[in-house]
Amino acid sequence: MPAVTPWTEVADRIWVRRYDPFDVNVTVVAGGHGVLLVDTRTSLHEAAEVRRHLAELPVGAPTAVALTHAHLDHSLGAGAFPGVPLYASRGCRQTLTRHGVAERERWLEWLDEEHHPHLRASPIPVPDHLVEGRHRIDLGDRDVDLLLLGHGHTDHDLVLHVADADTVLAGDLVEVGAPPAFEDAYPYEWPATLARIESLDAEVVVPGHGEPSSRKLLAIRRQQHAHLAALCREVVGGVRSATSAMVMSPFPEATTRVALDRAAATAG
Ligand SMILES: [Zn+2]
Repeated sequence: MPAVTPWTEVADRIWVRRYDPFDVNVTVVAGGHGVLLVDTRTSLHEAAEVRRHLAELPVGAPTAVALTHAHLDHSLGAGAFPGVPLYASRGCRQTLTRHGVAERERWLEWLDEEHHPHLRASPIPVPDHLVEGRHRIDLGDRDVDLLLLGHGHTDHDLVLHVADADTVLAGDLVEVGAPPAFEDAYPYEWPATLARIESLDAEVVVPGHGEPSSRKLLAIRRQQHAHLAALCREVVGGVRSATSAMVMSPFPEATTRVALDRAAATAG
């Protein structure tokens, strides 16, 4: 499966590569004595391809790997980096441990058959460096801050901030080229979490999927999510129909339908 793009240096020594399936982003942050790889694709097989592609960069092998969240298109390749510290939020590990095996079965239904043996051969990762609140990784001449800024796409989204490069890796709290995914989301809390990312004042925003963008995108997404949250509140409160919300929503009908279900199931 070819990459969607070659490595692109989006900021000083930060490279992003977009991969099919799902146009998912893998990011490398290099420092004076360390290399952080963020997200690992959907299988050991796919992560092995990332390993090969890493040789194209003027950096060494990863000294740390971080997962933005538990969804398998970001996490299931992590086993391809044995012995390397694996960072994730505590909630990410909990989700993988509790639901990873069942999720892997579900993903078999969504992916073409050519991927099935690769998924089955990929163990559910168990992150061994757990982030609660925030954690700083020292790469030598630069730090990367791993931040839990609130619920949104999941209850455990990790945001990575490279302050010296004005860059933030937002995971699936921000997507480009596809609507946000609400299956495990918190529609009412998502806008405030995006506002906290905005307050980091980073110029470059790397989404979980699709083309890297700028801070303007954060404001657009925050407004869209706030609009949707308001519609959800009205529907859950019985003053607007779901049909009307789907017409008014900034996101496609199918996306809004899932968001409405999640809104009803989560506190507002
Ligand atoms: Zn996701």
